[in-house]
Amino acid sequence: MIDLRSDTVTRPTPAMRDAMLSAPLGDDVFGDDPTVNRLEARAAALFGMEAALFLPTGTQSNLAALMAHCQRGDEYIVGQDAHTYRYEGGGAAVLGSIQPQPLANQPDGSLALADIEAAIKPDDSHFARTRLLALENTIGGKVLARAYLEDALALAARRGLATHLDGARVFNAAVRLGMPVADLCRGFDTVSACLSKGLGAPAGTVLVGRRDLVAAARRWRKMLGGGMRQAGVLAAAGLHALEHNVDRLALDHDNAQRLAAGLARIAALEVEAPQTNMVFVRIPPAHVAPLKAHLDVRGVTTLLGPRARLVTHLDVDAAGIDAAVAAFADYFARS
Ligand SMILES: *Cc1c(COP(=O)(O)O)cnc(C)c1O
Repeated sequence: MIDLRSDTVTRPTPAMRDAMLSAPLGDDVFGDDPTVNRLEARAAALFGMEAALFLPTGTQSNLAALMAHCQRGDEYIVGQDAHTYRYEGGGAAVLGSIQPQPLANQPDGSLALADIEAAIKPDDSHFARTRLLALENTIGGKVLARAYLEDALALAARRGLATHLDGARVFNAAVRLGMPVADLCRGFDTVSACLSKGLGAPAGTVLVGRRDLVAAARRWRKMLGGGMRQAGVLAAAGLHALEHNVDRLALDHDNAQRLAAGLARIAALEVEAPQTNMVFVRIPPAHVAPLKAHLDVRGVTTLLGPRARLVTHLDVDAAGIDAAVAAFADYFARS
């Protein structure tokens, strides 16, 4: 089975399962799960931030962070393609009473600084209070460079906006840039990073940032139903992931290059050059359904569409990539 749908499909390795089995546990709602506490301390140190919070999902982490930053009637500036705006069920508006102000993402995934500037509302009772700028890195597999982040952070500081980074895959960005994650994220008030994607944990996200904001997010986490008890079972997997699975993301990036190069040799496909672990491929619409069926038979699981996203991760090696490319090639050789 070669599953290219997402980097969330990974199964915990035997070593990760051992770490989970042997983790010392307590009741994290009382603050006395030693493994959760160790993970939170480790995450805060790794990001060079004051505090950290362990949450079950990235969605809850982003929502708790947005609610820590914004009050009812505040708004946050966010990309049209950003996960918090587009793929989290409208939680900021539904549960947070926070108005999103979405802006078009540029082709490189960034928000144009002039667009951000123009979207900030004057202090006037007609308008929601513009409170927060939320960026995402990586976004659609693309890396926002540190120089851009510095410009965006400077703009936010100048205009009195707080900043949140949805860094679900921020380790992919840091590895791609060859930069410590603390340097890449410096200056953000809060950063959310998933342990359950490329890092291979079965569940869990860390929210890191300023102490007061993380404390507020901890209260929201409880209200949102994320106060878990012996959560050290999961935190142990997260610690193992941070210790063993960060540097190896480079292998996933290499495999994405290998996949892109292989697919680019197929004339019917148009392949976008990958930056991290995601390969985007344009497929002639008439081929989407029969190609998907063919790949299923060959043991290659995909989410196909006219612009398909194929994702590499720690459960697919170079041989698996070659098998996937061969399955694509065989289909187009016959059709
Ligand atoms: C996956 C993802 C999330 C949400 O994480 P879940 O754990 O699936 O809730 C948030 N932001 C981005 C960019 C993601 O890719």
